[in-house]
Amino acid sequence: MTERPPSHLFYQGRQRRPVLDQARGIYMWDVDGKRYIDGSSGAMVCNIGHSNPNVLAAMRAQMERSTFGYRLHFETEASEALARRTAALLPDELDRVFFVSGGSEAVESALKLARQWALATGQGGRWKVISRFPSYHGSTLGALAVTGYNALTDPFEPMMRMMPRVPAPRAYLDGLDPADPATGRHYADMLAAKIEEEGPESVLAFIVEPVGGASTGALVPPAGYMERVAEICRHYGILLIFDEVMTGAGRTGRFTAAEHWGITPDIMVLSKGFAAGYVPLGAMAVGARLVEPVLDAGGFLHGYTYAGNPLACAAGLAVIEEIERQGLVENAERMGARLMERLDALRQRYPLIGDVRGKGLLTAFEFVADRQSMAPLPPGRAAFHRFVELAYARGLIVYSRRTRGGYAGDHVIVAPPLIVTEAQIDEIAGLLDETLAEFSAEMAAVA
Ligand code: PLP
Repeated sequence: MTERPPSHLFYQGRQRRPVLDQARGIYMWDVDGKRYIDGSSGAMVCNIGHSNPNVLAAMRAQMERSTFGYRLHFETEASEALARRTAALLPDELDRVFFVSGGSEAVESALKLARQWALATGQGGRWKVISRFPSYHGSTLGALAVTGYNALTDPFEPMMRMMPRVPAPRAYLDGLDPADPATGRHYADMLAAKIEEEGPESVLAFIVEPVGGASTGALVPPAGYMERVAEICRHYGILLIFDEVMTGAGRTGRFTAAEHWGITPDIMVLSKGFAAGYVPLGAMAVGARLVEPVLDAGGFLHGYTYAGNPLACAAGLAVIEEIERQGLVENAERMGARLMERLDALRQRYPLIGDVRGKGLLTAFEFVADRQSMAPLPPGRAAFHRFVELAYARGLIVYSRRTRGGYAGDHVIVAPPLIVTEAQIDEIAGLLDETLAEFSAEMAAVA
C-alpha cells in the first residue's frame, strides 16, 4: 500500500484501506493498480455496477439545470418523475413516496409516519413497534431502537426506548424444516403472542427485513411465515413495515422482496440499490390511507433538508431505467441461482460452513465450529473479520457481520452487482474457494 500521511478522517476504527482510483462494472481499482471484484456491491448498494454511463449522463444533465431546490420552495421534475416511477413499480396501494438520503432516515420516517397516523386516527395509545432479533434497521437512535444487534445497541440503551422483539425465524439453528409451513407458523405465532403480551391496543407496527441483511446474513423466512405475519398484523390492526433498504431494487430477484409472497405492506422503505451508490437516496412508500389523515391533521412533522434533492432523484430515476433496460431483476434471479449452487458446492467441501442461504443475489454462508450443534466458532477468533481480510488480499470484496446478535456467530454475505455474468460468478466462486482453503487451514491450526 502506498505510504500516506495520517488521516483526519475517522470512522469505526483505525484500519486504513487502499485509496480507490476507479470503478467500472463489478470491478474496482486502487491507486496502485490492484483490481478488486466488488463481490458485495459495497454494502449491498451498487446494484447496477459502477460508473454506468447512462446514469452519469442523467446526473450531468440534471446538474447543468439545478443541483438543489429546497422542497418548500420548488417542486422539481426529477423528484416528481422518480416518485411516479417508484409508485408504478410498487403495489397500487403504495402510491405516495417520501424521499430521504439513506436507509436509517427512511426507517425513521416510517416509524414517525406510523405514529402520526395512529394519532390522526384516534389510536394514540399505539406506539410500540415490534421488531425481530436479530435484525438491522439503521444507526440513528430511532432505527436502533428497533434493531436487534446487541453489539450496536447495548451502549445506547439508556438513551433510547428499546422496542419489543420476537425471534427471527432461524429455522436452521433451531433444527426446523424451513420448507414446512408449520415452521413458518411457529415463528409467526410468536408475533401474535408478543402482541398479546404487550397489549394489542399499544402496538403500532411490526417492522421486518423480508429477507435478512447484515444481522442475519440473507435469512430467508420459512414457508408460510410472511403470509401468517401479514394476517396477524391485519387481525390486530397493526401496520406492517417492510424494510427493503437492502432487498429492494431487484436484489433478491424481484423488484421488491415483498413480491415473493404477494404481500403488500402498509409502509415500505428503500435505499441502497435504489440509487445504487451514485448518490445518497432513500424512500418511504406508503398509501394515501395513511398519508391523508396525517395531512388532514396538520401535516407530517418530519423532514430532511436534502429530501427530494433533484440531483439525487435524477440519478435514482436513471438507475431504475437501467435496472429495467438491462433486465437486472431477472439476471439477479438467474445469477443468484448459479451463485447458490457454487456456495452449496463449497459447503460440501468445507466443514466450517454450516449453512448457505439467500434469495436472488443476496446470498450468505455462516461459519460454525460444529455442524451437528451449529455452535459458532469461538467469538475471539473474529472469523467474520478474518475471512473478509483474506478475501480482500486476493482482490475479492465480501461483507461480513456476526450472526447471533452481534457478539458471536460469523456470516459472510456475497452479493455482487446485478449485472454480474456467469463467468464472473465462477470467478467469485473460485476466489472464495481459495480463501476458504486458507481460512480453514488457519482456523484448524489454532483450534
Ligand atoms: N435497513 C436495512 C435493512 C439495512 O440493511 C440498512 C443498512 O445496512 C439500513 C436500514 C440503514 O441504512 P443506512 O446505512 O443507509 O442508514
